[in-house]
Amino acid sequence: MEKQVSSLKEILKNCTLCPRRCRVDRTRGETGFCGLTAKIVMDCALAHHGEEPPLSGSRGAGTIFFSSCNLGCLYCQNYQISHQVCGRELKPAELAQIMLDLQKQGCHNIEPVTPTPQAPLIMEALQIARSRGLTIPFVYNCGGYEDPQIIKMLDKMVDVYLPDFKYGKEGDGVAFSAAAQYPDFALAALREMARQVGDKLQLRDGIAQRGVIVRHLVLPGHSENSFAALRLIKEVSPRLALSLMSQYTPVAKVRNHPDLGRRITAAEYNQVLDYAFDIGFENIFAQEVSDRELTPDFSRENPFLAPAIK
Ligand code: SF4
Repeated sequence: MEKQVSSLKEILKNCTLCPRRCRVDRTRGETGFCGLTAKIVMDCALAHHGEEPPLSGSRGAGTIFFSSCNLGCLYCQNYQISHQVCGRELKPAELAQIMLDLQKQGCHNIEPVTPTPQAPLIMEALQIARSRGLTIPFVYNCGGYEDPQIIKMLDKMVDVYLPDFKYGKEGDGVAFSAAAQYPDFALAALREMARQVGDKLQLRDGIAQRGVIVRHLVLPGHSENSFAALRLIKEVSPRLALSLMSQYTPVAKVRNHPDLGRRITAAEYNQVLDYAFDIGFENIFAQEVSDRELTPDFSRENPFLAPAIK
């Protein structure tokens, strides 16, 4: 693990941590698309009860929300922290302590949210936490726009991968997330994730221990994009656990967008869900389509109305 972490940290000097390959020296304060230097910036850490059941369990997933992102999704529900660098700077040992605190609270896992641009220092923190008694699974919750070579470097450190697979149509990835070749990168990264931890989610007492859960957010008026994404995920394996999310909510930035300015209908969601079953997915987490407001507010002490470490 030590060798992997030091190889990852080397990449910060000429950053190719994600497909954007900005090639900036973040250790000297240079910044690329994500705007981050070589420091950990965290918004908050909390027991999250709104994740998929094998992650939230009864005591919550140990989510740690990091600042910034390597994607630029127009509709991001976490835009308050993902579209800018803001939050608390931490040393790896301090982040390790937060992981241990989440374990002590009873969380079922440690789940960094948007770890990709900060992966080297997060993995250093994980290494410290493991040496100090962290035993719960480590869940890598990323946006799917990943470089498979970087995912390869995480081998044996990640227990559960939780990638998004947002786009099956490249044009939608460019238009909505400024992400060129999203389907190609997401597919190659997913193959590597499944190679490392297997395509079948392994549970103990209903809690995920190892494997992959692929998330897909259904966007309004873009069912063809969803169908294409599902076909690509199935290319890796129909045994992969699939989480089909219905919670799309237009944030202020896209409220007047011709496609993205509304929530999805139950018919749109069910069409995608039926398609997933039809093409052979066996393990699907489905959601109801409702008017419930699920968007977190990161300006609050507690974005999800649960006790948070800020
Ligand atoms: S992690 Fe940030 S700096 Fe590095 S390649 Fe990606 S966007 Fe660019």
